[in-house]
Amino acid sequence: MPPGNIGYDDTPILPNFPYRVHDGNRPQPKVIAPPEPGKAPSDAVVLFDGTGLEAWEAVKGGPAGWDVQDGYMQVRPGTGNIRTKEHFGDCQLHLEWAAPEVVKGDSQGRGNSGVFLMGLYEVQVLDCYDNPTYPDGTTAAIYGQYPPLVNACRKPGEWQTYDIIWEAPQFDGDTLVKPACVTVLHNGIVVHNHTEPIGATNHRVVGEYHPHPPVGPLELQDHGDLVRFRNIWYRPLKGYDAE
Ligand code: MG
Repeated sequence: MPPGNIGYDDTPILPNFPYRVHDGNRPQPKVIAPPEPGKAPSDAVVLFDGTGLEAWEAVKGGPAGWDVQDGYMQVRPGTGNIRTKEHFGDCQLHLEWAAPEVVKGDSQGRGNSGVFLMGLYEVQVLDCYDNPTYPDGTTAAIYGQYPPLVNACRKPGEWQTYDIIWEAPQFDGDTLVKPACVTVLHNGIVVHNHTEPIGATNHRVVGEYHPHPPVGPLELQDHGDLVRFRNIWYRPLKGYDAE
C-alpha cells in the first residue's frame, strides 16, 4: 500500500498508462531542488558554472579559446565557435547571456552570437534592443525561419535568459519521421511555443533536415562580437513515471 493510504484502488485504468485514476501506487515525482537565482537545479547537468571551459572544445579542433572571467565566458573573436564535449538530445536548456554594453554596429552586426542546438539549429543571440534587423534574425529567432513572438530584449550589457525545451528530430534512415520541436522563453517570456523548425539553420537559403544522430553537442557562435554567457545547464527530458 502507498504511504498513508493515499489514492484509490476502485477507479478506472487510465488510457496509455498502467495506472488507475488517482492511483496511489503510481511512482511519485522525483523530488529535486529548484534553482536558486543564478544556479542550476539539483538534477541538472551543468555545462558551465562560471569557472572554466573543461566541458567545451573548439569546433575547429583543440581546446575552447574563449575567455573566462568573473563567472562568465566571453567570445574571443577569431577563435571560432565552441561546443560541448557531451552530446545530448531532448532537453530543457537554460543559459544566460549579455550583449556588449558598448554598442557597436547595427542590424546583424550588433552583439551577434547564437545557440546551436545539436550544433545545427540556431536560436539567435543578438542585441535587438532598439536595433531593427530582418525579423527572422531577431534576438531569439529560430534563425532564418521564425521570428520571436515578441521582442523581449533587455538593454545591452544586462544579463538575459533563454529557457529552451528541445525535442530532437527523428529519422528513419534518410527519412525524417518527426521534425524537431522547440519552445523558447526569452527573459521568461514565451517567444516560440512548440514550434517545429523547418530544418537545420542556414543563411540566405531555406533550412533543410539532413539525417543525424539523436544526440549532438550544444554549440555557441563566435560571430566576432564580445557576447558573454553564464550559468549553462540542461536536464534530459524524461517521460511520465520515469525513474
Ligand atoms: Mg547568430
